[in-house]
Amino acid sequence: MRFAKKTVQQLDCASRRVLMRVDFNVPVADGAVTDDTRIAAAMSTIRYLLQKRARLVLCSHLGRPKGGPDARFTLRPVRERLAHLLRADVAWADDCVGPVAEAAAAALGDGQVLLLENLRFHPEEEKNDPSFAQALARLGDCYVNDAFGTAHRAHASTEGVTHYLKPAVAGFLMKTELDYLGTALEDPKRPYVAVLGGSKISGKIDVITSLLHKVDRLLIGGAMMFTFLKAQGKPVGRSLVEDDRLELARQVLADAAKRGVELVLPGDCVASTAPDGSAPSSAKAVELLGPDEMGVDIGPATLAGFASKLRDAKTVVWNGPMGIFEVPAFAAGTMGVAKVMSELKARGAVTVVGGGDSVAAVQQSGLAERFSHLSTGGGASLEFLEGKVLPGVAALEDLGA
Ligand code: ADP
Ligand code: MG
Repeated sequence: MRFAKKTVQQLDCASRRVLMRVDFNVPVADGAVTDDTRIAAAMSTIRYLLQKRARLVLCSHLGRPKGGPDARFTLRPVRERLAHLLRADVAWADDCVGPVAEAAAAALGDGQVLLLENLRFHPEEEKNDPSFAQALARLGDCYVNDAFGTAHRAHASTEGVTHYLKPAVAGFLMKTELDYLGTALEDPKRPYVAVLGGSKISGKIDVITSLLHKVDRLLIGGAMMFTFLKAQGKPVGRSLVEDDRLELARQVLADAAKRGVELVLPGDCVASTAPDGSAPSSAKAVELLGPDEMGVDIGPATLAGFASKLRDAKTVVWNGPMGIFEVPAFAAGTMGVAKVMSELKARGAVTVVGGGDSVAAVQQSGLAERFSHLSTGGGASLEFLEGKVLPGVAALEDLGA
């Protein structure tokens, strides 16, 4: 497997300083973490390393500070939450590089953990500046990356540092992402079905093209369906359409036909005159969409059709909600797909969801446990599915190397 990377399990870490990149980019309000999902997601790697008596140095970004320290983006609230989850002290350094950080890392005992202040307080982080990467490398004797969500960016803490700090291996969260997404990309059990939706074709065209080469069926909902329907000459009313992508949509349709990929477009949709739910809505055949109406969800007949195309699937990748699911009246298609997909894992299928909004929708459905994998990396999972090399992944050592 192309994505088989060495992990912390192959790491000799006892009494050694382990510099680990994590994704602690969590929401903070009034100095407290309001959703600790991402911290919790890194806990298995953190606990494993501490149990192995490593001296753990954690680094992360938080938010988008502009070029320097900014109290709004401090990781201090994360330190508190982490200490709470670990029921242990978490040492702190006010800077992620330099004398303060080096002294804090040197002071660590076996099985102790240190959290560094926000990496992005230094603009050199996002520029992948070599001397900044070297400064980070001085804090560890080896390197672990457990931050899949930033692996598509070649930053100093995800890529640059691995030139100076070896071995560089994957954490458990990173490994899980690579296992599930890598399988979907390289070795899927069939039938393999992709469900695509969301707002725009333009941001997803590379995913569509890449998946078209792999899947047996492609089910299309969300706003992007209307660009396809318009390309077929159907009325779309005031639906969200990308007119500059009509030719692209025609190409995808032709390509699917040529490759024998079954591309399924909705036959009905939920129509309304207001995307915010402030006007009445009704389901109708897509051909009957009025000039003042917009399609805000797939319709019930389409959902039933999608369900029948999903039922025998052995691999399913889903990206992009089927409708404006943030409005409860337009959430039925998205929740319906979540429901159908949630029944497949028990039948031996691998079900993977990628994309920030799609994962949020599945969590909202309450069925998250019944999916094989919800990808934590929105942009990273999309780039992975596009077949792009993620610099933060490529930088890690291959298993067997
Ligand atoms: P993801 O984050 O999972 O990759 P996207 O960001 O591409 O998904 O798309 C999510 C957005 O698409 C949601 O905010 C949803 O409201 C919107 N959307 C889905 N269907 C429609 C539609 N028919 N019209 C307008 N917006 C839509
Ligand atoms: Mg999104």
